[in-house]
Parts: sequence; C-alpha cells; structure tokens
Amino acid sequence: MRLIFLGPPGAGKGTQASTLAEQWKIPHISTGDILRQAITGKTSFGIQAQAHVDAGELVPDMLIMALMRERFGQSDVKRGWILDGFPRNLSQAHALEQLLSIMRQPRPQVVNFEVSAEVVVERMLQRGRQDDNEPTIRRRLEVYQAETSPLIAFYRRHRCLNTVDGNFPVAEVNHLLQQSLQLLVSV
Ligand code: AMP
Repeated sequence: MRLIFLGPPGAGKGTQASTLAEQWKIPHISTGDILRQAITGKTSFGIQAQAHVDAGELVPDMLIMALMRERFGQSDVKRGWILDGFPRNLSQAHALEQLLSIMRQPRPQVVNFEVSAEVVVERMLQRGRQDDNEPTIRRRLEVYQAETSPLIAFYRRHRCLNTVDGNFPVAEVNHLLQQSLQLLVSV
C-alpha cells in the first residue's frame, strides 16, 4: 500500500501513520521527523533547515526533494510506504509524481484528514513540540492554507482522494481510517 497523508498540522497524521505503518510493516516517512533528527544531529542539512522550521515556514523544495530522493533510494520502500507531511505544495507533488514514475512505483492513494481549526490548535498546544508555540502555530496554519490545501483539489482531480473525519479521538479516527482503506483494498 502506498499512501499520502494530507491534513493541517495537528490533524493526527503522524499518530495514525505510525500505527498503520507498524500494522502493515511498511515505512512511515515523515519529513518533519527527518528534519527534526537532522536539526538535533546538527548535520549540514539540519543547519540549513532549522531557521525555516523554527519560523513555521516550509523548508525549500530543493532540500526536501534531495531528502526524499535519498529516502526513496533505500530498500525498505519497495513494499509500500506512508508519507506524512510530504508533499506540502504543488511543486513537491509534481516532483513526487516524477520520482515515482522514474522508480516505476504505482500511483499512491491519498487520505485527507479533515479537522476543525479549534481541534488542531488544541492538539498542537497539548503536544508541546518546540515549534508548537503560538506565533509559529499561527504561521504554520497560514502556510498550510496557502501552500498545502490546494493539494486537496489536485488529488481530487487525480481521483485518488479519500477523506477521513479527524476530529474524533485517536482510536475512533483509526477505525474510520481502516474502514476507508478497506474500501480501497476491495476495489
Ligand atoms: P511536521 O512535523 O510535518 O509538522 O513538520 C514540521 C516542520 O518541518 C514544518 O513546519 C516545516 O517547517 C518543515 N517541513 C516538514 N515537511 C516539509 C515539507 N514537505 N516541505 C517543506 N517543509 C517541511
């Protein structure tokens, strides 16, 4: 199974992706996690990315695509994957299509987690990550609206968009997600 998880920051994509990835024994690829590790490890990539992450801005596409090319070069991606936090804008979505076609990988399905603004802010404040302070949260939500939300229409046009109501507690969202994926597997 190849899946892209879409949704605003705080939608619960990471939580659901890690449960599902463990269940299906496929990698959960989170660009945010990879960036945070690089920042902690003070790699040259981390140093270049840090200011963007701290400000709640997108890290430049060139860096993100270099990271994804390297990740897709690893052997564990052959049986499937869940992408969480990538693509984040239309140019990354186009670059991903190219990368997958070069690698002769089938087109992914997309799951969009729909979550209200109040729930998103509440979850981010509870999580307490370094970039989960109020000004950065506000900026990340603006960036999501401007840059990432157009991907919903993009993938709807590609007829691979599935929607899950992410407003419920984790276990219920997981149930809804499994139901929606069951439908995909059975067609
Ligand atoms: P996340 O953990 O997905 O919320 O990502 C945390 C931060 O990492 C974001 O606010 C961005 O600064 C950066 N980031 C993660 N994924 C991407 C991406 N695909 N493109 C650009 N920046 C990203």
